[in-house]
Amino acid sequence: MPADVLNLVDGQARPAASGEWLAKLRPADGLPLCRVARSGAADVDAAVAAARAAQEAWAGFTPVSRGDLVREIALALRGRREELSAVVVEETGKPEALALGETEAVVEMGLFMAGEGRRSYGRTMTATMEHRTVLTVRQPVGVAGLVISFNTPLPNVAWKVFPSIFCGNGAVLKPSEETPLSALRFAEIAHDVGLPAGVLNVVQGLGQEAGAALVEHPGVDLVSFTGSASTGRWIAETAGRRLAKVCLELGGKNALVVCDDADLENAVHWAVQSSFSNAGQRCAAASRIVVFDEVYETFRDRFVAAAEGFADAGPVISEASLDRILAALARARDAGASVLCGGQRLDREGWWLAPTVVQGAAREAEISCTELFGPVTILYRVGDLEEALAVVNDSPYGLTSAIHTASMHRAMRFAENAEAGVVVVNGGTHGSEPHMGFGGVKQSGNGWREPGVEALDVYSEWKYVNLITDPAKA
Ligand code: NAD
Repeated sequence: MPADVLNLVDGQARPAASGEWLAKLRPADGLPLCRVARSGAADVDAAVAAARAAQEAWAGFTPVSRGDLVREIALALRGRREELSAVVVEETGKPEALALGETEAVVEMGLFMAGEGRRSYGRTMTATMEHRTVLTVRQPVGVAGLVISFNTPLPNVAWKVFPSIFCGNGAVLKPSEETPLSALRFAEIAHDVGLPAGVLNVVQGLGQEAGAALVEHPGVDLVSFTGSASTGRWIAETAGRRLAKVCLELGGKNALVVCDDADLENAVHWAVQSSFSNAGQRCAAASRIVVFDEVYETFRDRFVAAAEGFADAGPVISEASLDRILAALARARDAGASVLCGGQRLDREGWWLAPTVVQGAAREAEISCTELFGPVTILYRVGDLEEALAVVNDSPYGLTSAIHTASMHRAMRFAENAEAGVVVVNGGTHGSEPHMGFGGVKQSGNGWREPGVEALDVYSEWKYVNLITDPAKA
């Protein structure tokens, strides 16, 4: 790990113009990891100018050659996957196997997007007028401001950067202040394999400083954001005032339903994975487990035992995050909920909270409606599928959901009526893949889907080309 993590502007590594730094600590033990360039409006200005200057020439490459370069980047990332995963482990404290799996998903995302070079189809249309053909072509949006969360640092970069590059945009990436180096390494590797300087710039720093300056910059045509609903709301308002395109991928309070005909072993397995892997720091984490009366006690006892035995959660990202989660648990206890396991800071250095299961919280309680983004999940007891659906949909969010049942009828009724962008039958609430569109309804997003081919709609605009092939006869 380098002692100082810099910006990358126009292909050059630079400290912040102010010369200021942020301290980044290791979640696993709280020790200092590195210093991060504390950038502001001047750094954002330089990066946006570099992106603007590089974009036109980059858009002049054919889609096939832009896709070919995306493939080279993906292959270079694959060649350095162990080194990249080690950086992510240092930055986040997550288990090595999880970091490696995420890096492999990044490579797959790159290879998928590279294929778009030869598969980026448009449409041809009929017309009322004779001798007229209408076809569609994709245009880049221009300069993209990419602002992302810390939770899966490399996929968060890849999900935005690969389609942004492929579609011919210039971009300025503002990584999370908690995971600066993995993002910088990604960009450096992209340049090493031939991405022209300025096509992808990285500006490090705090959300309210570097992030806000990027969102407010009049030279940014598209803001693509992955993070919390409260930040997303501010971004939509701010960028919306100048009518910039805004893609928001926000939080969730995702529910997993266990019916009385479920395979309980499978349901326990997926409920634990969904609630606690990555310390619950997944937008798609299950933080509400909705269980039918008939199997409630049996499921609860097996789930709590499995949660207590789950050793792969990792720490949460920061002391502030741990304190926020513990305070929310204290308020939930005061409001009458009980904590069946976990709920305490572990007696070790770093920011560790044991997998935590809560019971007896009211549906409208603060803890039921607020995303905690930690290893905490709440059990609810219901009489039937209709009541389960009512609990699932009684949320400001609508990202992912899952149901465990042997009944095709229940599965389909749930799939049709759950208010969510993703439904899983007999699996976890997470686990989408690079070729699948992902995103949510209600406060989980504003209607866009990333990745999949759907991501191309975020990073490009359709142009309708009218060809009058025989003007004399038209
Ligand atoms: P956050 O909103 O605090 O920060 C996200 C990013 O925005 C960071 O880079 C931060 O520095 C920046 N930021 C903060 N304030 C800003 C501002 N005023 N202007 C511009 N940028 C600003 O979220 P977080 O704690 O990093 O991430 C957790 C959230 O992300 C959760 O809600 C989680 O569900 C969500 N998330 C969503 C998805 C998805 O695909 N829907 C994926 C991962 C995480």
